[in-house]
Amino acid sequence: MPVLVMKFGGTSVATLDRIRRAAKRVGVEVAKGYDVIVIVSAMSGKTNELVGWVNETSPMYDAREYDAVVSSGENVTAGLMALTLQEMDVPARSWQGWQVPVKTTSAHSSARIEEIPSDNIMAKFQQGMRVAVVAGFQGVSPEGRITTLGRGGSDTTAVAFAAAFDAERCDIYTDVDGVYTTDPRVSAKARKLDKIAFEEMLELASLGAKVLQTRSVELAMRYKVKLRVLSSFEEQSDTAGTLVCDEEEIMESNVVAGVAFSRDEAKMTLVSVADRPGIAATIFTALSEAGVNVDMIVQNIAEEGRTDMTWSCPNDQVKRAEKAMDAAKESGVIRFDEMIADMDVAKVSVVGIGMRSHTGVAAKMFRVLSNEGINIKVITTSEIKISVLIDRKYMELAVQALHDAFELEKSA
Ligand code: ADP
Ligand code: ASP
Ligand code: MG
Repeated sequence: MPVLVMKFGGTSVATLDRIRRAAKRVGVEVAKGYDVIVIVSAMSGKTNELVGWVNETSPMYDAREYDAVVSSGENVTAGLMALTLQEMDVPARSWQGWQVPVKTTSAHSSARIEEIPSDNIMAKFQQGMRVAVVAGFQGVSPEGRITTLGRGGSDTTAVAFAAAFDAERCDIYTDVDGVYTTDPRVSAKARKLDKIAFEEMLELASLGAKVLQTRSVELAMRYKVKLRVLSSFEEQSDTAGTLVCDEEEIMESNVVAGVAFSRDEAKMTLVSVADRPGIAATIFTALSEAGVNVDMIVQNIAEEGRTDMTWSCPNDQVKRAEKAMDAAKESGVIRFDEMIADMDVAKVSVVGIGMRSHTGVAAKMFRVLSNEGINIKVITTSEIKISVLIDRKYMELAVQALHDAFELEKSA
């Protein structure tokens, strides 16, 4: 029988009632003749609560124990979903990651899936089980320890199962009815897209649109998984939601497909470092060894052999970066006068594959921001995106102004 993967996010399994609604949707697909793999997230808010408990217990926690704790939210929903399906007379059972097993690397709290053997679950399907409910977000390391895949990781579990089981489709059920031109919570004018290209979705996700975890889009692109995002709260048709697909499948698209943003940014500057070969290598090696994910980088014009070095990174990594730079200064590897951390910044980005062939998008973006009186602190570009760092208090304004200026409420 054909296999379908259905993933339900936190809000879609937030209460027993919602689990029942989700189970009904699963029942509809079973009745159509599919064997279904259901991937569940923890009930909404649960993972945050668990992360909070870990931080409170041990600020410099052992990541293996972090994973043991935060993976547990998904175990509860997997069991409850299987029970709900059984109550509806649908043959179902639950699986935790290690039982499948979902084999991952040992990079605790941000592990990558390496392999999902399909034989255990397939054997059960052959014996008449119709639904395998799998706890998302978790796996098992080569050392036999529980791992998690990074926040939002159940999306990646879903796509990885779709690839491993050669599923007909991977449906991601969430609290919005598809992928929008920007987060509908920030702009009332956001428009739902019927289709979006993998490359664009990949950029939007990595630039902050948390509707899909970045890694899930990467996997879908690599393994040609038919990926759909849709609402678990509305009646569904076969064409509901947004299809993430190859760009060749999209006839017309706007130059800019969407606007993404990320609140959790910080800008750091080392004031007055030596302007000589090797200085950037030294700074960024130290940061990378400390596990700081540097995003944007600017080196200012040098004066009298000294320069300022600025970068952005997630704001929860600032302490780590400061520690690394202080240590480098103390050991004499780097000299600088001062280190400044600006925690009140946000990143706003416009994304679109049309930028490959259209000029003037950057100029227009900068003009729009300047018309709103928004100062740009750092800029980066790639072939299909332009990102700016601005004061966080202007983030919503910037997103709305850009959405208006690029006329994203209208389709191409
Ligand atoms: P789930 O718990 O189902 O995984 P998430 O909260 O992780 O759901 O992701 C869905 C949320 O993503 C939406 O509620 C929405 O606020 C946000 N979002 C951000 N950018 C977009 C976008 N471009 N299109 C749709 N939703 C977006
Ligand atoms: N429950 C996990 C999280 O909140 C994984 C997920 O929902 O995708 O990050
Ligand atoms: Mg999510």
